[in-house]
Amino acid sequence: MTTASPTRPLLELKGLGRHLTLARAPFSREATRTVSILDNVNLAIAENETVGLVGESGSGKTTTARIILRLDSPSSGQVLFSGEDVGRLDGRALKSYRRNVQPVFQDPYSSLNPRLSVATIVGEPLFVSGEFAKAERRARVLQALNAVGLQADALGRYPHEFSGGQRQRIAIARALTLQPRLLILDEPVSALDISIRAQVMNLLDELQQRMRMSYLLISHDLDLVVRVADRVEVMYLGTIVESGPTRSIAKERRHPYTRALFDSKLPAHPRERRAIAPIEGELASPLNRPRGCPFHPRCAMATERCRVEAPPLRADAAGHATACHMVEI
Ligand code: SF4
Repeated sequence: MTTASPTRPLLELKGLGRHLTLARAPFSREATRTVSILDNVNLAIAENETVGLVGESGSGKTTTARIILRLDSPSSGQVLFSGEDVGRLDGRALKSYRRNVQPVFQDPYSSLNPRLSVATIVGEPLFVSGEFAKAERRARVLQALNAVGLQADALGRYPHEFSGGQRQRIAIARALTLQPRLLILDEPVSALDISIRAQVMNLLDELQQRMRMSYLLISHDLDLVVRVADRVEVMYLGTIVESGPTRSIAKERRHPYTRALFDSKLPAHPRERRAIAPIEGELASPLNRPRGCPFHPRCAMATERCRVEAPPLRADAAGHATACHMVEI
């Protein structure tokens, strides 16, 4: 964990929205339907900072990542990188952005092409950029492998020859070759054995200290996010429902959904006796987004007001923000 910088954010999401227009539903009179996947998402990541984006599957986390990586386009709002509108970048500016923002995906078994050698996999971003001669590509690949604790003898080997933890190290090395400023870590350890997870997270922490990168850590595991992030953003059905400095959120989870996420995690040891309160009900579909507070069908504290009026995200003086009618700011 690092100390957040008070200067301009490296990455900013401003009022980000993603809507899909679907064809008419059977027996419906409406010609089309609009489905909201993301709604007014605001988020900032400073230099050398880790921001954790947490929520259940289907909450909009991966859509957010895809928009940041320009694999998808927002319907409204902006992504700013060092103050520049990413949606307007093209040519050399877009190349530079792609170099600076690199992803590490969840599953090192499917994200690495089994037919390519480690040298080709790790060197691919350098080759695609077209900016590096062969000798420099090799030097950078070796440097990236060393950074993640792998040696030169890995170059000619193939993904199936490595364990899950080593494969994720290879995926991280590939992301490092272009010396990015921001890594988008989409569930980077959830496909790994528990014994390996700490090793990979420690490696990411060490690399961040050394290379002063920023991280967006996307995870459904609030416990993991609280251990490593400087700030936490809790997402529910495409909106941020709680956000703020990690210490503040770990000390006082104000939103009922954040509390349910904490309470539903399994104890660290099977012998640990702790009441586990799973979250009631299923995450609603964006096709049938509830009116009012999106969490109200699952919230034990819901009132009539919650069913008709969406709570705004309001922050206290310390920057801890909550979208809940029951939270006094
Ligand atoms: Fe629950 Fe109402 Fe708060 Fe939504 S606004 S989280 S329904 S208490």
